[in-house]
Amino acid sequence: MSNIDIIVIGGGPAGMMAAITAGEQGKKVLLIEKNKFMGRKLRITGKGRCNVTNACEAEDFFRNIVRNPKFMYSAFYTFDNNSVISFFEESGTPLKTERGNRVFPVSDKAGDIVDCLNKRLRRANVEIIRDCVKDIIINDGKVVGVKLTNEEKYASKVIVATGGISYPVTGSTGDGYKFALRSGHRIVEPRGSLVPVECEGKLCRELQGLSLRNVSLSLKKGEKEIYSDFGEMLFSHFGITGPVVLSASAHIKDNEKYTVVLDLKPALSENELDKRILKDFDKNINKDFVNSLSELLPVKLINPVIELSGIDPRKKVNSVTKEERMNLTKIIKNLTFKVKGLRPVDEAVVTSGGVSVKDINPSDMQSKIVEGLYFCGEVIDVDAYTGGFNLQIAFSTGYLAGLSAAEN
Ligand SMILES: Cc1cc2nc3c(=O)[nH]c(=O)nc-3n(C[C@H](O)[C@H](O)[C@H](O)COP(=O)(O)OP(=O)(O)OC[C@H]3O[C@@H](n4cnc5c(N)ncnc54)[C@H](O)[C@@H]3O)c2cc1C
Repeated sequence: MSNIDIIVIGGGPAGMMAAITAGEQGKKVLLIEKNKFMGRKLRITGKGRCNVTNACEAEDFFRNIVRNPKFMYSAFYTFDNNSVISFFEESGTPLKTERGNRVFPVSDKAGDIVDCLNKRLRRANVEIIRDCVKDIIINDGKVVGVKLTNEEKYASKVIVATGGISYPVTGSTGDGYKFALRSGHRIVEPRGSLVPVECEGKLCRELQGLSLRNVSLSLKKGEKEIYSDFGEMLFSHFGITGPVVLSASAHIKDNEKYTVVLDLKPALSENELDKRILKDFDKNINKDFVNSLSELLPVKLINPVIELSGIDPRKKVNSVTKEERMNLTKIIKNLTFKVKGLRPVDEAVVTSGGVSVKDINPSDMQSKIVEGLYFCGEVIDVDAYTGGFNLQIAFSTGYLAGLSAAEN
């Protein structure tokens, strides 16, 4: 007989939260992490600042989940964003809320979030071992333990919190999908989401390094707009990235044709933009057209926009026609890029797909197929936009899995 009640596989945010919760219920918990340190991915979240959750209303949380929001109801209402905030603040890690309700540690250090979770693991008497789980052991439809590199560990409850397949250097190598598949669960093909977008043509390469703060992005399939957003983005040698692009990528499927249309002046209508251009022309009345746009556009964009407008850059501004100006406003408000595809899943912020929600009970995170087996975090087929929602998913499902495994 083993003296372990619950084994948790994976020391990311979901697994740590599951282990803490079960440990705090007085259970003997063993957490197995293959990396030397806990929360390797967590340390690089939010550009090293860790956007730990989003201080939004519940409806907004569900609206920001791209795949299977309904599956999250029980988990979120059991341990919501306010619970996450209290969890860290009461453990001595103060948080602050920034633009878009994004919540970060006051210190701006993701490492403080990891330290806080480690402290709570110690306080909950969770035993930790560094090893790689090779498989789960199942007997008569019930989980009985796990196989490690050179030994086996036994417990009647096992929580799989192995993450997805994005940024595999952090340890998220899709092991949980194999365990789930081998034990009869359905897997929704994993793919990258919140991933940079590759574009056709040379324009992005020319604009490489340029970041834009207040653009409006529209993702179109044919003429139909399937997603739009407003915010920041960045050009790179392969295409585009940054928050609005990453969110749009969640809607791009393989083998379909898309265009990304950028409105570089979303606060102005075409008419207002034309008036603004005329004002700039007035200020530069005797100058060449090429020298009249420096207040309107970032330097890197001026030549490409002029080229697309077809207006002779050496033309004096007072001879630019109304028709040419109309064309210029159209380009500024509809800068269009053909999507070539997504960057590889290694570069994705999250994995879309994973263990099918049809095979997991949303009220306790337990498998419907194997008794005593639980899933939490990114290994499940649930993913969200940027803004702290993915970590909230990890914490909510981790908490519920830990609590249910301890109670059942
Ligand atoms: C660059 C980047 C920035 C991000 N920023 C944010 C952000 O600011 N806010 C936000 O909400 N989300 C962010 N995310 C997403 C977020 O980090 C993930 O959704 C979250 O980490 C998922 O948590 P998890 O515990 O399910 O999985 P993971 O964090 O992937 O943890 C899984 C753990 O399991 C371990 N493991 C795997 N297989 C085994 C095995 N066989 N045996 C033992 N251990 C194993 C791994 O080593 C790993 O430590 C970001 C992601 C990336 C890549």
